Amino acid sequence: MYDMTAKTQSNRFTKLKASIADYMQRKDNILTGIEDEERISIQKKRIMERLGATDEQWNDYKWQLANRFICIDDFADLIGLSPEQAAYINEVGKTYRYAISPYYLSLISPDDSECPIRRQAVPSPEELNPDGDLDPMDEEGWSPIDLVTRRYPDRLIIKVTNVCGMYCRFCQRRRLIGESDKNMSWNQIKAAIDYVKENKEIRDVLITGGDAFMLSDSIIERLLSSLRKIDHVEIIRFGTRTPVTLPQRITENLVSILKKYHPVYVNTHFNSPREITKESKEACKRLANAGIPVGNQMVLLNGVNNDPYIVRKLNQSLLRIRVKPYYIFHPKTVKGTSHFWVRIEEGLEIMESLRGRTSGMAIPTYVVNGPGGLGKTPILPNYLMYIGAEKAVFRNWEGKQFVIDNKAR
Ligand SMILES: *Cc1c(COP(=O)(O)O)cnc(C)c1O
Repeated sequence: MYDMTAKTQSNRFTKLKASIADYMQRKDNILTGIEDEERISIQKKRIMERLGATDEQWNDYKWQLANRFICIDDFADLIGLSPEQAAYINEVGKTYRYAISPYYLSLISPDDSECPIRRQAVPSPEELNPDGDLDPMDEEGWSPIDLVTRRYPDRLIIKVTNVCGMYCRFCQRRRLIGESDKNMSWNQIKAAIDYVKENKEIRDVLITGGDAFMLSDSIIERLLSSLRKIDHVEIIRFGTRTPVTLPQRITENLVSILKKYHPVYVNTHFNSPREITKESKEACKRLANAGIPVGNQMVLLNGVNNDPYIVRKLNQSLLRIRVKPYYIFHPKTVKGTSHFWVRIEEGLEIMESLRGRTSGMAIPTYVVNGPGGLGKTPILPNYLMYIGAEKAVFRNWEGKQFVIDNKAR
């Protein structure tokens, strides 16, 4: 290494610069919500005027929930839809319900017919495509008791509600998001907790829904204190999209409850850099300041984030708000979501584009879900080119090959 000339060394750094030049060029055109705040604040003002809302109301999650937009005629003009487009959204709404918090609606760019926020929140006629299954993961078949799905030996999920701040158009549990919002009764939740108590292998309990933070603070406290009385429950996780769709929900009172029952983890669900706003940043900060590690579970979605540059920007921006990218899910073949499906190659290309080119911290695990409940299965570009009795041959992130000795000792 001492004979490396200054010239080869500077050549090295020139190459590193070249290998990121494409991203440097693209990233400033992929705006986060914080970077696009001016446009979002104009929308917010229009929506507040429409609803006659005060700042205090806007910042109150109960007001946000009670004022979710559920009828296209109330907001079509606000997001630049024509009366014809509004009419077919009405049609789709008869099959699949929709509800959009005023906050999340404010993130939609009315001049962009391809807006990734609009695509996630506003129904599309493509939802009537009959391809796919209602329950491709066979959650019903893996349910030992109401509300519980158990597919792994040491952990399970409890679905405590079917309510969300916004109903994602690609939802994997569309079958449960029925006619009306329903939080489960305490008796049902209690029975699920009893199941955990009776099964000593369960060391990790994941509370989800719907959106776990749609429960009231007092029920969340009751749930946490009951779970914490079970010795074999080591960690408690919440699955919630509220930091993204309803950040007002992350109140000081809520985090003061959560932090009494550590170790508590939260996994949230950002799909687009545009969802990173000053409000969602504040929500994640509150969680992190309460000692709660926050992870992100992105779903790979056609027309939202099936682009290596968008995912790189998203994951780097998440680290800046103290959220660690945890999973990228390959989209599931849920009926009514076929317009979001992508090919495996697209996910692999995204993983390839991240490794080496950005922090390992910004690289989640890409998983496909085995149909019928075969579970999360990781996929990775192939870096191991050959493995035998003597040696293993790899390629690195730049495609350079190297050999590692693999003899038995
Ligand atoms: C996703 C999931 C989990 C959690 O899986 P991790 O890989 O531990 O995050 C647990 N149970 C069910 C049924 C799941 O779908």
